[in-house]
Amino acid sequence: MAEIKFDHIYKRFDGNVTAVTDFNLDIHDEEFVVFVGPSGCGKSTTLRMIAGLEEITEGSLYIDDNYINDVSPKDRDIAMVFQNYALYPHMNVFDNMAFGLKLRKFKKPEIKERVENASRLLGLDDYLQRKPKALSGGQRQRVALGRAIVRNPKVFLMDEPLSNLDAKLRVQMRSELIKLHQRLKTTTIYVTHDQTEAMTMASRIVVMKDGFIQQIGAPRQVYLYPENTFVGGFIGSPSMNFLEGTIRNQHFWLDEEMSLKMPQERREDLKPYEGKAITLGVRPEDLHDEQAFLDTMQESKAKVTIDIAEITGSEAVLYTKIGEQEITAVVNPRSNIGQGDQIELGFDMSKIHFFDPESGERIK
Ligand code: ATP
Repeated sequence: MAEIKFDHIYKRFDGNVTAVTDFNLDIHDEEFVVFVGPSGCGKSTTLRMIAGLEEITEGSLYIDDNYINDVSPKDRDIAMVFQNYALYPHMNVFDNMAFGLKLRKFKKPEIKERVENASRLLGLDDYLQRKPKALSGGQRQRVALGRAIVRNPKVFLMDEPLSNLDAKLRVQMRSELIKLHQRLKTTTIYVTHDQTEAMTMASRIVVMKDGFIQQIGAPRQVYLYPENTFVGGFIGSPSMNFLEGTIRNQHFWLDEEMSLKMPQERREDLKPYEGKAITLGVRPEDLHDEQAFLDTMQESKAKVTIDIAEITGSEAVLYTKIGEQEITAVVNPRSNIGQGDQIELGFDMSKIHFFDPESGERIK
């Protein structure tokens, strides 16, 4: 069992930096929670407070209902894996993994059993006698994970553990970590600035910005219903498009000429915005250029000229403008689509989002 509760947690550093503000979160047993956000948003600081490496300025932290603000790091039954997983270069893999257990005075047979179990799990059986310098980056990262696993802790904390690996290895290790979690079921908190990692690994995502939680939810929920323009723009790649306009007569007007017809079901909640400015959000994949789609609509489509077309193989990313506003669309690739082409783009109006232009908050 390992549940973690953050109750109004603040972290202030000397010199008046508030790194974390009013952080509230209940992490359930066996969850894999990802803290995601841009550099400096406070995710590492939050993780380090759980580990006990950073003092909590205000608020209370609980593990399984025990108040742990003042418990020393070694008594928290937590194992942490860092980006810089400094292995001991003079020790072989076995000793690197065994080191923490020796320090804690485990008996030799117990150490052997734990290291062998972890190395089997991580596919390191054949490398136990090797020194770190004779390992690949991925294998070294696995040893670092092994050091955490042998301790059989209540909680794993991982701070950008994959960011030193090349892109291909990162993707591979991502799925290995997910499988590992499925087997061990240890409550895990994982920090990354990479939204793809967050989307693919998390059972729940915590999106952070400037020390504040922006949204907490399952990856799909955060993707489909971003609570503000920051989350909408940060989660998803390419990013969500934002268009500024005005609501008039059940239409969203981008300028004097171009308008999109509002879906029936949105009219009621947009009433307070009649005649006012509003921000429309649309994901690149919710813009379509197929004729079959365009034929279904009289309105809610725009003629555009393509500035750049990136054909990646499975999809085409089109960069264009509607009026003066830049917009990106992801469509099925057609071999002949390219710069300067004029096409029609239709909006899937069932998937558009509206935000208050001042606060950036989602309009429900
Ligand atoms: P990154 O992805 O770059 O590691 P992060 O989201 O993990 O960023 P933190 O490292 O938690 O962010 O930092 C949050 C804020 O606290 C930043 O503004 C940072 O400059 C500040 N900060 C972190 N450690 C200290 C410290 N020891 N003293 C003063 N300010 C600090």
